[in-house]
Amino acid sequence: METSKQQGTINVTSENIFPIIKKFLYSDHEIFLRELISNAVDATQKLKTLASVGEFAGELGDLTIRISIDKKKKTLTVSDRGLGMTAKEIEKFINQIAFSGAEEFMKKYKKDANAIIGHFGLGFYSSFMVSDKVEIITKSHKRGKAARWTCKGDPQYVLEEFDREERGTDIILHIDKDSAEFLEEDRIHGLLNKYSRFLPVPIAFGKEKEWKDGKYVETDKDKIINNTEPAWTKKPADLKDEDYAAFYKELYPMAEEPLFHIHLNVDYPFNLTGILYFPKIRNNFEVQKNKIQLFSNQVYVTDSVEGIVPDFLTLLHGVLDSPDIPLNVSRSYLQSDQNVKKISAHITKKVADRLKDIFTSNREQFEQKWDDLKLFINYGMLTEEKFWDKAREFALLKNTDDKYFTYDEYKEIIKGNQTDKNGMLVYLYANDKNEQYSFIQAAKDKGYDVLIMDGQFDTHFLNHLEEKLEKTHFVRVDSEVVEKLIEKDEKRDSKLDQNTQDWLKPVFKSQTPGEGYFITFESLSETAAPVIITQSEWGRRMKEMSKLSGGMNFYRDLPDNFNMVVNTNHPVVIDVAEQMKGACGDEVGKIEENLKAVREDKESLDKLLKGKKEDELMQEEKDKREELEKKVEEIEKQRDEVLSGFGKDAKVVKQLIDLALLATNRLSGEALDAFVKRSISLLGK
Ligand code: ADP
Ligand code: MG
Repeated sequence: METSKQQGTINVTSENIFPIIKKFLYSDHEIFLRELISNAVDATQKLKTLASVGEFAGELGDLTIRISIDKKKKTLTVSDRGLGMTAKEIEKFINQIAFSGAEEFMKKYKKDANAIIGHFGLGFYSSFMVSDKVEIITKSHKRGKAARWTCKGDPQYVLEEFDREERGTDIILHIDKDSAEFLEEDRIHGLLNKYSRFLPVPIAFGKEKEWKDGKYVETDKDKIINNTEPAWTKKPADLKDEDYAAFYKELYPMAEEPLFHIHLNVDYPFNLTGILYFPKIRNNFEVQKNKIQLFSNQVYVTDSVEGIVPDFLTLLHGVLDSPDIPLNVSRSYLQSDQNVKKISAHITKKVADRLKDIFTSNREQFEQKWDDLKLFINYGMLTEEKFWDKAREFALLKNTDDKYFTYDEYKEIIKGNQTDKNGMLVYLYANDKNEQYSFIQAAKDKGYDVLIMDGQFDTHFLNHLEEKLEKTHFVRVDSEVVEKLIEKDEKRDSKLDQNTQDWLKPVFKSQTPGEGYFITFESLSETAAPVIITQSEWGRRMKEMSKLSGGMNFYRDLPDNFNMVVNTNHPVVIDVAEQMKGACGDEVGKIEENLKAVREDKESLDKLLKGKKEDELMQEEKDKREELEKKVEEIEKQRDEVLSGFGKDAKVVKQLIDLALLATNRLSGEALDAFVKRSISLLGK
């Protein structure tokens, strides 16, 4: 057969692209396979389209794309039965590469092969990353001879006629020494699984194996590695719940069953399909092995969708497919792309709508799954304003009796009893039902409702709720004694006067388990506990927040401070006060008379010096004042020592404090043992 042969130079403006391709595209060599296969898919799909509009009258036949390795010849071949190319088309589509400013661009994006390949339409040429010679053997579906194009990785190519009857294209890569990995079956299998799993045209690699006479043997049946009709490409109406579940398993074989799915199917104003799944997300932010996979017309692109969809949506699983997302471009470009932004907003809206749907149509189911959904929904509400607006209607609050309420429902419930004297609505919460049991109980006894906020993320979220919901304040049940959790105008008289309280302070202080306890007095009901340990909402929250965010170290490193609240109306406390007065009332009385005299001296001196500036004072006056101040301090110390002495020996005081520690789970080890022994000895008396 007579053949014509043509030689030429690939038409590029830059001197020679090949060294550049080799040199700079090192990081992502493997994507050459994705590029060649998607060209083969394109060629096949185009032929189908031509056939469907009557422009191709021949037989379509078997359209399977075949990948094969020849280890001896060191070749990897991608064959399709698509529309093929004429020699003219090779000239046009392969030889002419617009490539101006390439070198500069390459240097800038040398780590991002995707960007370069996409930018210059270098899909086919990426094969030179792994080959020292590439052949194209192709016969167009149109009439005419087949052609062979050969290029050895320099700008020279050979284009000649070739003897071939069958329509379609073979791309033959002569794999170079450094790329021998791509002659390994396992490596290619891995790549096909990554990039080609859901391509719309069957892809064959190797043969099916069969168990025969005690071993696996190859059959002559092609092994098809892809699912050409993945669930997301079908109509939602044609799919059952089982189909969605099966597809999830196909995507993530090891994952636990998801909670719900959303099937996205949009064709205006952009094209987007996909299925998103809500996985069970409890407390673990980091563990996120199963990611959303992004496709373009069923070609896998990436599984790092950060910046493409809002952060909280990256907690979902599943697939997104859109030909409108520009794929072969850099990430920063993607993030600023208007289409991408629209798509992202659309997904957010769809997710919110779907949740709303489930909430309205099956509230019971929604409540059952709330604990697993909560982190996701709250995170979305915190980070996406638009999502907040929608989710506000179905987001739930859960109370310590495991009942669920919407924000509006809950507000109605607590409005009457939990509004404080300033008109603030006080939401009470606990984060540990066991540890805070006595506080929860005390609040309930007072007719309050207590929420459970036990997520690692809740402190942040309730800050947000305080900003969003009007006149709202969240207070943990153990941050105050129950009377003061919600401040109202009622005031209860104290059975112990101020002076007695001053005396009791060192008595109780002498027995606190460490420095971080401040003794305060409250006139509570006589049935409330005699001593209660609280921790201020603000201080605790600052510490928790700084732990979460890693910043604000000042707060994180502060020591924990607690209030030890002594109930001045409790009979046992009153009894302690009586005992104290009996044991050291006379002595302390005398000291106080002394103290009173010195204080009076100091007051009259202060009066005398009033109005004078510091530098107008005579040395003598300064000395006198200092002496009196010192004396007051000394006498106070003397008084406190006597009272501490009483406190240290008073088993009841220790017992009261230990009971308060016990009620908040703070008594353990040696202290607990001592408490038990003391309790027994007190019983025996
Ligand atoms: P792109 O796919 O972005 O157009 P490529 O460099 O991957 O860029 O391919 C260039 C062109 O070569 C394609 O547009 C197509 O016209 C032609 N081509 C490549 N591979 C094939 C193939 N297997 N069958 C038919 N035409 C092909
Ligand atoms: Mg291509």
